Amino acid sequence: MRYLSDVLKEEYGEKIYRLSLTSGCTCPNRDGTAGTGGCIFCSEGGSGDFAAAFAPVPQQIEEAKARIRQKTDARRFIAYFQSFTNTYGDVDRLRRLYEETIRREDIAALSIGTRPDCLGGEVLEMLSALNREKPVWVELGLQTAHDATAEKLNRGYDLACFQDAYTRLKAAGLTVILHLIFGLPGESREDMLDSVRYIAALQPQADGVKLQMLHVLKGTELARQYEQAPFPLLSMEEYTDLVVQSIRILPDDMVIHRMTGDGPRKLLIAPLWTTDKKKVLNTLRRKLADGNGKKRN
Ligand code: SF4
Repeated sequence: MRYLSDVLKEEYGEKIYRLSLTSGCTCPNRDGTAGTGGCIFCSEGGSGDFAAAFAPVPQQIEEAKARIRQKTDARRFIAYFQSFTNTYGDVDRLRRLYEETIRREDIAALSIGTRPDCLGGEVLEMLSALNREKPVWVELGLQTAHDATAEKLNRGYDLACFQDAYTRLKAAGLTVILHLIFGLPGESREDMLDSVRYIAALQPQADGVKLQMLHVLKGTELARQYEQAPFPLLSMEEYTDLVVQSIRILPDDMVIHRMTGDGPRKLLIAPLWTTDKKKVLNTLRRKLADGNGKKRN
């Protein structure tokens, strides 16, 4: 398993930081195009609660850089458009916005969070053209490979839709990063590992993966369901065991972009152990160093 920070350091010879930016897009799973209400775990901020408020992107970049530079002398960055669906809407507007961003000296790569049902031909052409200038990563929030869970999540697309978009993205030469959430309601440990196995078996191979514990956030449909009938959430031990097991399953050269996510404290209802990211990462490091992360033959 390769870790993103090491890969970036190898590639660029320096530490590269991520800037969380906002493209001004909405989401088809909220406006009625693919669905209404959005995914049940998605917060008001469109699953990007650390992203900047919408403003001209150069301004967002300068403000985000200023925050990072309070702690480091970072020079180059990944422009990360995380919240909502960043390939949804007027393609000409998006092309201008992304071209302007990727052409900056201080931007090393573009990372675009989106959905598989928002990757039509024109969008793919735009992403391919950008990818010829600098690396473009496309991040897809698959969350689970099980259609029955996806339906309960109100994700708004099925696995066949994901598979089709994934194949087209890879054929276009884009870097694809897949997100999985552990602890989704109704899923067993084996269900979660099945999703990991599904990602591990994709051909061509996925470039990277982000793993995250389910966060119950205030104001979401998930929070309403949780408050009405609390369902069991994974403990830190269970979650970290699952991550270690996933690392055993995933291909050795796949890049781990995230092993744990930190939910916005002001919105987080449960599980509260996820706020202690340092402890979670230390537990993971200990389990991996104990040999638990080694591949089984
Ligand atoms: S696709 Fe993303 S932005 Fe849209 S509702 Fe689901 S998590 Fe939220």
